[in-house]
Amino acid sequence: MNYGKHPGWIEVISGVMFSGKSEELIRRVRRGLIARRRVQVFKSHLDSRYAGLYSVTSHDGTEFDASPVDSAAEIFRLVRPDAEIVAIDEAQFLDADVLPVAAALAARGIRVILAGTDTDFRGEPFGSMGALMAVAEVVDKLQAICVVCGDPACRNQRLLDGKPARYDSPTIMIGGRESYEARCRHCHKVPRRDEDQRELLEGVEGRGSKV
Ligand code: ADP
Ligand code: ZN
Repeated sequence: MNYGKHPGWIEVISGVMFSGKSEELIRRVRRGLIARRRVQVFKSHLDSRYAGLYSVTSHDGTEFDASPVDSAAEIFRLVRPDAEIVAIDEAQFLDADVLPVAAALAARGIRVILAGTDTDFRGEPFGSMGALMAVAEVVDKLQAICVVCGDPACRNQRLLDGKPARYDSPTIMIGGRESYEARCRHCHKVPRRDEDQRELLEGVEGRGSKV
């Protein structure tokens, strides 16, 4: 893909879990390799502990490992001077430095592709994903399928012991016994947030009736 005359831009692949972000990232990396571009792939270390590292294999058998990283600064240090494409998976787990790092790499002429979950289990913006989507030239927002009703899914449902996780449970659960489902807005359940919103709306309606 060529965005314009000048090399160097930012692409974001966003969406919920199971929406196919990794598949799309791998597809773009594979096509970059077919075009004989020099590619480097990174993945937040946080995720690799659970999902295992993946590697990307090109048509001609070249294999690329996704290097696990702990911070955005580490990506910046590890990018080789001749890199043409830098792909980063699970970008939601990276610190806020991912913004200046992505911008600096793009300014250097690198095509930067970031994939990440744009909302956390509460349905609120996750890490720097929202800001990355704002500064990117190209944004794709993928949908999964809601496992409850079959509609397009835009929310991550966290389940703890099979029950919807409460709003105040931590954003990232290390070693937790949680599981996730893709759900649509209407089937997504976050106890306490739902109650708070009901209270908030009742408050607004209450105030409205007095005017
Ligand atoms: P992501 O990186 O967004 O989590 P992946 O690329 O790892 O997604 O996985 C996408 C694949 O997950 C789909 O191609 C499909 O085979 C599978 N999948 C499992 N559950 C669902 C679901 N509820 N909706 C859509 N795809 C699903
Ligand atoms: Zn649904």
